[in-house]
Amino acid sequence: MPVFKPIICSRFFLRICCIVSLGIVFSFTANIDAQAALVASIRPLGFIAAAIADGVIPVEVMLPDGASPHDYALRPTNALQLKKADLLLWVGAKMETFLTGPASSLPAERCITLADLPSVTTLLPKIGEELYDSHVYDKKCRGGHIHHHGDYNMHLWLSPIIARRIAEAINHRLAELMPEKKTKLDNNLYLFKKHLTINDKNIAKILAPFRAKRYVVFHDAYGYFEKYYGLTPSGYFTANPEIQPGAQALHKIRTQLVEQKVTCIFAEPQFRPAVINAVVRGTSVHIGTLDPMGIGIALNKESYARFLSQLTNQYVSCLEKNI
Ligand SMILES: [Zn+2]
Repeated sequence: MPVFKPIICSRFFLRICCIVSLGIVFSFTANIDAQAALVASIRPLGFIAAAIADGVIPVEVMLPDGASPHDYALRPTNALQLKKADLLLWVGAKMETFLTGPASSLPAERCITLADLPSVTTLLPKIGEELYDSHVYDKKCRGGHIHHHGDYNMHLWLSPIIARRIAEAINHRLAELMPEKKTKLDNNLYLFKKHLTINDKNIAKILAPFRAKRYVVFHDAYGYFEKYYGLTPSGYFTANPEIQPGAQALHKIRTQLVEQKVTCIFAEPQFRPAVINAVVRGTSVHIGTLDPMGIGIALNKESYARFLSQLTNQYVSCLEKNI
C-alpha cells in the first residue's frame, strides 16, 4: 500500500476541488455569448501577444497586478476568461501550476504552451540535451512534455531572444486560426521585431557601464535578461519565492555582500520579504526593486519594449549608487 504524505493529499484534494468548481463555473456560463480573446497567463506574455494580435483579436491577462505565477490560485473570473478564450498562451505546468488542469482540457489548437515549443526549448540552458530527444506531442494542451524542466529557468519572457520566438509562435497560430488576417499578423510581427531590435541597442548602451557592478536578486528570475545584456549578479536568495532561504543560505549571502562589494539587493513588488532588510542591516548595500511582471504597463503594441526598458531603469536606479 502506498503511503501518501499529508501535503500530497491536500494538494491532490485542492486540485480536485479546483477542477470541480471550474466545472460548475463552466456549466453556469455555457450560454454566455462572450467575445473571443487571446488570453495570456501573465502580463509579460500579454505584452508580446498584444503586439502580434494588434487590430486582430483582443488580448487579456489572467494574473492581476501584484500576483505571482509561483503561488497563484485560479479565480472564478479566470474560468470565465478561459471559457471565451480563442487561444490560451502560457509558459507551462512548471511555471503556472494553477493552469495545469484547465489547460489540459483545451484542444491543442487553442493553446500555446511555450515550454513545449521546439523553437523555445532549444534556447533553454543545455543542462541535459538528451532530455529533449524523445519529445512526444500530445493532442491536448498538457504542458508537461519537457521532462524535468524544473531544472530549467522558466522565466522565458525575460529573454529578448525567446520573446521573438514567442511572437513567431503567436503569429503562426493566429494565422492558422484566422487565415484572412495573415497579412496584418505578419506586419505586426515585422514591427514587433523591428522595435525590439531598436530597443535592444538602447538597453545594451544603458546597461554597459554597470556590467561589472555586483548585486543580489531576491529570486532567480532574471538570468536570461542578465546573460543577454552582460550583467553579473552575485547570486539570489531563492530559486522559487515560495521557498524562503534557510539560515545557511542567508549567512552565505551576507558574506557575499561584504566580500564581493555588492552594491544592491533587489526585492520585487510581488515579494518584499523582511529577510532582505535583515540581511543588509549594518552594511552599506542599497535595496532596489525589480519587477519581472511589468505591473502598470498597459497592453499595446509597444508594451514589451516598455517592459524591458522599465526593468533596465530599475537596475540602473540602484546600481548607479555608490557603496
Ligand atoms: Zn519566478
